[in-house]
Amino acid sequence: QCPWGAPNTTSISCSLADVMSEQLAKELQLEEENAAFPEVVAVAEGPFITGENVDTSSDLMLAQMLQMEFDREYDAQLRREEKKINGDSKVSISFENYRKVHPYDSDSSEDEVDWQDTRHDPYRADKPTTTPRKGFIGKGKDITTKHDEVVCGRKNTARMENFAPEFQVGDGIGMDLKLSNQVFNALKQHAYSEERRSARLHEKKEHSTAEKAVDPKTRLLLYKMVNSGMLETITGCVSTGKESVVFHAYGGKSATEDKVIPPECAIKVFKTTLNEFKNRDKYIKDDYRFKDRFSKLNPRKIIRMWAEKEMHNLTRMQNAGIPCPQVVILKKHVLVMSFIGQDQVPAPKLKDVTLSSEDMKKAYYQVLNMMQQLYKECNLVHADLSEYNMLWHDGKVWLIDVSQSVEPTHPHGLEFLFRDCRNVSQFFQKGGVAEALNERELFNAVSGFSITADNEVDFQAEIEALEKMNEDHVQNHGKKLSMFSSDGDPPIYDE
Ligand code: ADP
Ligand code: MG
Repeated sequence: QCPWGAPNTTSISCSLADVMSEQLAKELQLEEENAAFPEVVAVAEGPFITGENVDTSSDLMLAQMLQMEFDREYDAQLRREEKKINGDSKVSISFENYRKVHPYDSDSSEDEVDWQDTRHDPYRADKPTTTPRKGFIGKGKDITTKHDEVVCGRKNTARMENFAPEFQVGDGIGMDLKLSNQVFNALKQHAYSEERRSARLHEKKEHSTAEKAVDPKTRLLLYKMVNSGMLETITGCVSTGKESVVFHAYGGKSATEDKVIPPECAIKVFKTTLNEFKNRDKYIKDDYRFKDRFSKLNPRKIIRMWAEKEMHNLTRMQNAGIPCPQVVILKKHVLVMSFIGQDQVPAPKLKDVTLSSEDMKKAYYQVLNMMQQLYKECNLVHADLSEYNMLWHDGKVWLIDVSQSVEPTHPHGLEFLFRDCRNVSQFFQKGGVAEALNERELFNAVSGFSITADNEVDFQAEIEALEKMNEDHVQNHGKKLSMFSSDGDPPIYDE
């Protein structure tokens, strides 16, 4: 009698839920064992499992086992192709991801069972019935080996308890279900791939929320802004950076008469994924404006402080007449400001725009002027100034991204300024502005110092000496110099 043939007695239900239903399972098992596989019982009398005494208690499992066979064949074919393609080449291509049976594609079911007994099997039962080293228990006729069908079957059923929690296995122990090794391996394989699949799905889901870039709390904040009428609509994302996400919005009506909401707004959401901000500590930690508060803060509050810092710095710049976004409102880690650009299109960064040589020169002098104003009038150093944070709009340069800006007396303030100067000089010199000062000249022009060192190393050493002097002053007098005393006013350059 062929085990693969359709049983002529009853039609067998094959949904897993049905199989796991206790009553039905018992009935079916008995029925099948008697009808379809009488020879199994005969073979099982031998001490070892052989290829023939396969538990085929349900069509579903049979189908799964068959599928496994196909998958193994498929993988073997892949492996052959992999070998053919790679040959002796040092650089090889892996087809690993296309395999159906990933982690263990052993050919023999015996191997698989042994593999389950290793301590690395995550599905290992807590207290497996141990079989001594010699491989059997008992004496004479009562010998029980580790391959004993009943022992093994019960063990396998118990092991199912260790499948991932979302994998419904039913009460196999209660109904004394004995799973054969092959069926168990097939089920385990299934549980594994299900787990992997759901992990992949989950990953995707998280990725898409990361893309939307705002967590529920932030979304609520934004929603409230629209709901209050302050913003008309939030149209979409302008930029996703490491530390912030910027949205565009159309402005609405202000609750108070004296405030006018710009027709177009930029919403800068400082990312609350804390680790991104770790490396920015040095800017704020030493900024005396925030010093007293820093030590008492948790990381979430520090992020709010970035937003707050950007607001204060923008306000200072606005008061000095430097072209920059105008602050509309700050709510926690969300800063709303005027949008630089038009019709939802942000103004291009200086690095992305091609300027005529005339405009380039104009832009250079404007930047030089702004740096001086920033230093003298706002008492600030941008600290991240480059063609990435300057926008070209309305025929002039606008400064943005000032959350990290510090006062010149910040312990590293002058170093930051020197870095800014280097970026600016290089950009305009490469851009063909013959008049552009080199970084050292620019530093002196902005700060009003007259450092004479003619090479970068000495120049930087002098900068650090100045910073140290300032720090010593703090040590001795308990507070910072309000400003560095410079050798007279810095010259104001103009076209
Ligand atoms: P990050 O710290 O992520 O660099 P930025 O303040 O530089 O943050 O903003 C990122 C990008 O968002 C900018 O390069 C610019 O394109 C856009 N952006 C930021 N603020 C504005 C604004 N007020 N108007 C128009 N675009 C803006
Ligand atoms: Mg930026």
